[in-house]
Amino acid sequence: MVCHYGKDLKEMIEQVKGYTKSGKVADYIPALLKANGDDIGVAIFDGNETCFSEGEHHKPFTLQSISKVLTLALALMDHGEDVVFSKVGMEPTGDPFNSIAKLESHIPSKPLNPMINAGALAVTSLIKGSSNEEKLDRLIQFVRELSGNSQITYNQNVAKSEFETADLNRSLAYFMKQHGVISGEVDVLLDFYTKQCAIEVDCEDLAKIGYSLAHQGEHPDKNYSIIPFEIARLVKTFMVTCGMYNASGEFAIRVGIPAKSGVSGGIVGAVPGGIGIGLYGPALDEKGNSIAGMKLLELISAKYHLSIF
Ligand code: GLU
Repeated sequence: MVCHYGKDLKEMIEQVKGYTKSGKVADYIPALLKANGDDIGVAIFDGNETCFSEGEHHKPFTLQSISKVLTLALALMDHGEDVVFSKVGMEPTGDPFNSIAKLESHIPSKPLNPMINAGALAVTSLIKGSSNEEKLDRLIQFVRELSGNSQITYNQNVAKSEFETADLNRSLAYFMKQHGVISGEVDVLLDFYTKQCAIEVDCEDLAKIGYSLAHQGEHPDKNYSIIPFEIARLVKTFMVTCGMYNASGEFAIRVGIPAKSGVSGGIVGAVPGGIGIGLYGPALDEKGNSIAGMKLLELISAKYHLSIF
């Protein structure tokens, strides 16, 4: 079977390149400032050996918030829905990803969903393991399985840079600890969370992860399921309702693909039963999504009729 999705990618990338100029590389994690705002790359995986890719598709970048999708799947596999959703809700929020506002205004005080930072911290606190090292090993192993890349690891500089500057996330965690959503040492949780966010991939890894999610956790190269059907379904639903920060509604209308973005400029897309898309474009729009990446996904979705709606 020949993948027919790749053939117009080059042209589409040329079309969206100009958008990078109106975006900005994330600077609140100092190490992310090293990225080149002009970069844009994409890979598409259709389940065959071949990954169609263009642009900076081999440049490594950190998962950042894309990791939230994977820790959610792992926490659900570790504990089941009842435990996980006793700590985090299922509703989108119109607030920025790092906002504390809804934690304070909602009773009981639990984060609205696992895709905002507060919710992700609560989910991360549930990952099983006797130490952060063991938890991180489990998570990295999971990412390696989903991507089929046994070399994946985390970027120590990015993790350290975020750990040293993560006072907003620390404050979310302290607030949740006070309200019984999480327990244990806040900095131990932050250590694991910042390493989780610093797991490094390229567009092709991300496209395979997207494909695994699109196919209910099926291994991209082999034929077995890594994530149970129901959990993959649930995770993709969160990607639709909350995956693109407070631009998720517009993204559902303009693109209509379950997706999750991160402040490093990565976006993973999972077309149910179809392709996986991995995208990198570190210049971000004001909501924290890759500015050229959003446009590129809009073009890809329109061209190949990929919207699920
Ligand atoms: N590590 C980042 C943070 O917690 C992830 C944010 C994101 O990619 O949206 O601030």
